[in-house]
Amino acid sequence: MEDVKTTEISKTAKNAVWIADLSKHENESVCVQAWISNKRSGKGLFFLELRDGTGFCQSVMDLNNVGEEIFENCKQLTLSSSLRVFGKVVKDDRQIGGYEVQIDNIDIIQIVDNYPISNKEHGIEFLMEKRHLWLRSKRQWAIMRIRSRVKYAIHTFFQEKGFVQTDTPIFTGSACEGTTTLFETDYYGEPAYLSQSGQLYGEATAMALGKIYTFGPTFRAEKSKTRRHLSEFWMIEPEMAFYDLDMNMDLIEEFVRYIVTDIYEHYRFELEILERDLTLFENIGKEFPRITYDDAIKILKGDKDVEGKNAIKTLENDLVEVKAQIIECNKDIDEREAAIAAGGMKKGAINFNKNKIDVLKNKIKQLEEKERNIPQWLESAKNFKHGEDLGGSDETVITRLFSTPVMVYNWPKDIKAFYMKRNEENPDYVKGVDMLAPEGFGEIVGGAERETDHDLLVERIKAHDLPMEAFEWYLDLRKFGTVPHAGFGLGFERLIMWLTNVSHIRETIPFPRYYGRLFP
Ligand code: ATP
Ligand code: MN
Repeated sequence: MEDVKTTEISKTAKNAVWIADLSKHENESVCVQAWISNKRSGKGLFFLELRDGTGFCQSVMDLNNVGEEIFENCKQLTLSSSLRVFGKVVKDDRQIGGYEVQIDNIDIIQIVDNYPISNKEHGIEFLMEKRHLWLRSKRQWAIMRIRSRVKYAIHTFFQEKGFVQTDTPIFTGSACEGTTTLFETDYYGEPAYLSQSGQLYGEATAMALGKIYTFGPTFRAEKSKTRRHLSEFWMIEPEMAFYDLDMNMDLIEEFVRYIVTDIYEHYRFELEILERDLTLFENIGKEFPRITYDDAIKILKGDKDVEGKNAIKTLENDLVEVKAQIIECNKDIDEREAAIAAGGMKKGAINFNKNKIDVLKNKIKQLEEKERNIPQWLESAKNFKHGEDLGGSDETVITRLFSTPVMVYNWPKDIKAFYMKRNEENPDYVKGVDMLAPEGFGEIVGGAERETDHDLLVERIKAHDLPMEAFEWYLDLRKFGTVPHAGFGLGFERLIMWLTNVSHIRETIPFPRYYGRLFP
């Protein structure tokens, strides 16, 4: 790299402005420090799309304004090259961010050779290998910003309600819900497990502080590739003394509505970049339906409709539709390929069509995945036996019928954790609740009113084959002033996945950890 005169840089850096602040500098001459995120040229013109992390903006270099030398200099600029741009800020609603910089001069920091990620389509595995660079792309930028804002909104929501944030240990000596998904580590010669839920500790701190929430990393060895399981994810776990199941559901609803509304009001630009359908945000004011597990099963099996929609019939229609779309896309590809092969097409048009073909091929891949999935979903729904846990595909089938989140409560005790409070009217059921996100996303929240009775808990711990000695301290909570209480766990990345409408959870965290991936 070229030698840089430090004093000069710090001087310009001091006077430089962030793209997010351009609106405060309308009609002023400024310096923007940025990377090139796109570059086009016209006759005697260069259009440089700049990004500096805080936003994107268009800048224009006109040969008549800057002269030969600077214009020549600009020719070397490639994708992701870094530079300083000097010019005047003008309002222009047609441009990204609403402002344009009319360039007077540039100061190149680094010219980049062969930036691996172009503005064309890339395969997902390639992008995952280049995750450290992929994060710079517009979509990823939007997702990460939403992630940050949601974190802020979560803290704001709970703090304003008087909840105390408490942290729970990451090394734990015992498994809270079975050992199959635990990561074992060596803790001074003893086995210790990475936490897969802070809940039991959350119950203890709630008995000390009334209303608490945790926000910490969670580890689960999920040895299969699904779209919604990470090995390392973040969970928010509120726990409230003197709350019952209904109050718990009220809180879940208020909380989720608050987050969704906050993003809708403050992060519209990011949602636009993601081309997020906004129906969800428009519907979030509606009451979230609360249905029992038994009713959820009826809906799944097509024995009960939702707003006039039948689960099984909807799936069957979708399959027909997907098949038709695949044929349509293939036809489009054939036509474009034939047009290119016929010759006489300009280079720009060829590139445009080639890129369109790549986009279509990716779309077909997604459609073909649906074509494979739908028959499996149908099979699973039709054969579902009452008393089983809802699988990911079952949740998808149910929630595609809803336009708001839906809460499923009153679960068979055998498929839920030992600490859930029994239903007094029917002891085969427990007071658990899952909140399923609409549009097919499925479970985002799992919660329950907790068992308060010491002896019943002991019985349940035995029935679940859990080591009693590991729960001595937990049982103390039922001996020394037991009170009704409830809480829930919300999967942070699941929430982001839903809000941003990405089809795979790996895009919701900067450096995802999931089965088969530990780098970068
Ligand atoms: P699932 O059935 O989808 O695996 P779960 O029943 O294991 O979920 P809980 O133990 O209730 O989930 O955990 C609470 C929340 O944590 C879930 O509602 C979900 O949002 C999130 N969650 C659970 N497992 C994962 C994972 N592997 N990756 C990301 N989020 C997860
Ligand atoms: Mn799970």
